[in-house]
Amino acid sequence: AIRIEGLRKSFGPLEVLKGVSLRACEGDVVAIIGGSGSGKSTMLRCINFLETPSSGRIVIGGEEIALRADGTPASRKQIEKARQSLGMVFQQFNLWTHKTILENLIEVPVHVLGTPKADAVARARKLLARVGLAEKESAYPAFLSGGQQQRAAIARALAIEPRAMLFDEPTSALDPELVGEVLGVIRDLAAEGRTMILVTHEMKFAREVASHVIYLHNGVVEEEGPPDALFGSPKSDRLKQFLKSVA
Ligand code: ATP
Ligand code: MG
Repeated sequence: AIRIEGLRKSFGPLEVLKGVSLRACEGDVVAIIGGSGSGKSTMLRCINFLETPSSGRIVIGGEEIALRADGTPASRKQIEKARQSLGMVFQQFNLWTHKTILENLIEVPVHVLGTPKADAVARARKLLARVGLAEKESAYPAFLSGGQQQRAAIARALAIEPRAMLFDEPTSALDPELVGEVLGVIRDLAAEGRTMILVTHEMKFAREVASHVIYLHNGVVEEEGPPDALFGSPKSDRLKQFLKSVA
């Protein structure tokens, strides 16, 4: 489970997150929606400390990450452990371009986690088969379509055997005809009962896969709830307007 409480984050004088909370229990799919600049990516990036929170509490797998008064993590080791339990997928794939797809998948397991290479390779091949890329293990990322690269990036995130997956607009950089294949992979992970936090602009998809939806506006959770309530009968005028604007 992942729990965030009263998370604040400022960049200089700009307060981007003004005390947001989120809870994702085992098997939950939490979707974060909201307009551009509302703080969605920042919230996600604070969970694995790609950004340093200014204050608040972050609990991952029952372990609270100790933060100093200025929000910086007190223990390097604790952060490493937290990161290793979270698989992150970005908008821009971020595969290592000078490594083959298979090498991308085994890099962290072998060189950071100490998994024996043969085990890492066997697991990587299984994951590539699952995302429909068994034939591509020796290819370099540049030779794959955007949809294939993103599926490889998802497989790479899964290769560390994470406790939960974090997605930041995984389909926003894709040509429209490639969106479906990536959503399909995420849908399968949701059906398997994976714990996931997903920032997305795909409202239909969020409604379909999420167990809980959070609407962020100006660094505040303006409204949240089960998808049918949030999308079907939104209460806040801001959310109503937002849903109209993206429809
Ligand atoms: P989008 O839908 O466009 O991805 P978002 O909801 O993910 O938007 P964030 O990327 O979290 O929004 O950004 C929230 C605010 O924080 C924006 O005003 C952005 O300019 C600002 N911001 C984000 N990262 C930084 C940074 N490293 N330094 C300064 N300001 C930042
Ligand atoms: Mg963003």
